[in-house]
Amino acid sequence: MNSAKGSLEVAETKSGDGRSSSIVYDSTQPALGCTDIVFNYGVLRALRGVSLEVGVGSSVGVVGVNGAGKSTLLGVLSGHLSASSGGHSTFGVDLHGRGLRDHMRKGVVLVPEGRHVIGKLSVYDNLLLGRSCFGFKKPEKSLLDFVFEVFPEVYGRRDLKAGALSGGEQQMLAIARALLAQPRILLLDEPSQGLAPKVQERLASSFAALLKSGVTMLIVEQNLSFARSCTSSIYALAQGEVRFHGDWESFASKADLLEEYL
Ligand code: ATP
Repeated sequence: MNSAKGSLEVAETKSGDGRSSSIVYDSTQPALGCTDIVFNYGVLRALRGVSLEVGVGSSVGVVGVNGAGKSTLLGVLSGHLSASSGGHSTFGVDLHGRGLRDHMRKGVVLVPEGRHVIGKLSVYDNLLLGRSCFGFKKPEKSLLDFVFEVFPEVYGRRDLKAGALSGGEQQMLAIARALLAQPRILLLDEPSQGLAPKVQERLASSFAALLKSGVTMLIVEQNLSFARSCTSSIYALAQGEVRFHGDWESFASKADLLEEYL
C-alpha cells in the first residue's frame, strides 16, 4: 500500500521470507532515468555517455541496428551489468552499482532477448521460477489472476511443457513471468523478434493493457513498425550514442534517420 507525503511516497515490499520493508521514492521523478552511462567490454566501448528518461506511465522505444548498444543499455538499467561511469535511477532512487535483486525489488524488471523459458518445465513452473529465483514468496492469487487476464494464452497452456509452446506463446510466458515480479518498469529486449505479424499485433494489444494497468515500459526493438505500434516516443542509438530522441512523427520526417535505422 502507498501513502502519500507530498511528492514522497512509501511503497511496502515483502521479501521471500515474508518480512516487509519499505522504499521511499519521489513520484515527481521519471520512472526511469539515466545520465551519461558509459559501459566497456574490455577495450570495446559499447555505451558512450547515454542519457534517457522514461516518464511514469509511458512506453518508450529504443531502436538501432545490430551492435548499437541496445541490449547493453538494458543490461545496465536492469542491474545485470554495472556501468563504468554515469548513473541511473527509478523514481529518484539511485540504482547505480546496485545488483539485479535490488533492481527487481525497486520494480525494474527485464524480459531478456530470446525468452529463456525452460522447455522441460511446465508453463506454470516457468512462471513461478522468476519469483523463486529472487527469493520472492509464492504469488497472491490476485496477481496470478491479473497476469492470466493479460495473457489468457498462458493460462490456457499452464499445464503443458513450455517447450511445446509456439514462439509467440513463449514470448507471452516470458513477459508473464516478469509480471509476477510486480514490475513498475518493464524493460523488454526485442519482444517481436521472430513473431508473425498477427502475433505481434496480439503482443502490442497486451502492452496497451499493461500500460493501462500502470506499468511503465522501455522497449528495445529493431522492428520499427512494431515499435511504433506500442511506444509514443523513441531514442535511436548508434555506436553506443543517442542520435535522436523525440516522437515518431519527427523521426519519420527525418529521411536520413529512417534510412540508417530501417
Ligand atoms: P543486437 O541487436 O545485435 O543485440 P545491440 O544494439 O543490442 O545489438 P549490444 O548487444 O549491446 O548491441 O552490443 C554493443 C556492442 O558490444 C557490440 O559491438 C557488441 O559486439 C559488443 N558486445 C556485446 N556483448 C559483448 C560481450 N559479452 N563481450 C564483448 N563485446 C560485447
